[in-house]
Amino acid sequence: MKNILEKHSTEICKDILNIIDNKEVKIEIEEKNKSSLYVFLNNTIYISDKFNKNKDNEKNKKAKLLVIAHECAHSIQSKTIQILNFILSNIELIMFFIIVVWRIFGKGLEIISYGYFVVALISIFIRFYLELNATVNSIKIVARYLLSNKINRKEVKSIVSYYKKELFKTTPLFVLSLYLFKFIRIGIIILI
Ligand SMILES: [Zn+2]
Repeated sequence: MKNILEKHSTEICKDILNIIDNKEVKIEIEEKNKSSLYVFLNNTIYISDKFNKNKDNEKNKKAKLLVIAHECAHSIQSKTIQILNFILSNIELIMFFIIVVWRIFGKGLEIISYGYFVVALISIFIRFYLELNATVNSIKIVARYLLSNKINRKEVKSIVSYYKKELFKTTPLFVLSLYLFKFIRIGIIILI
């Protein structure tokens, strides 16, 4: 188990993509950004550099594996849903600015406001589905990855339960950070 966690992020990511049979994805180490992400537009997984910098931190090493599995899980999600998520998020932003500008000039525009709430709610729901699906699958992918590396079932079980506990602790903050700006925009539209 120790040897696996010592591996470089790119190597782990390549191995996982092989296991889930999705070899077309590009992998890049992201130096500026602290978070890791999958971008469907260029089919690329960006892995945060922090995992290679804080090599000796045990918690960090374990997190690396789960985060990479999570982004790999995004890479095999339905492209249709990802496109829909992308389009709706952008429409939501554009509608928000139109409504704010309109309100500044004292115009009502009630219908667009209702439309805005519908678009915002659907985009929250779609993003939630994508994240929940990637989170559930990341655990399964980690288990498959460890088993393929000849880690015994007992150890796999224990690391899986560790990850489940960690997810339980970190998910509320993750969801909040995911939607914070969207919630602020919805609040502004309600108040102005
Ligand atoms: Zn995600």
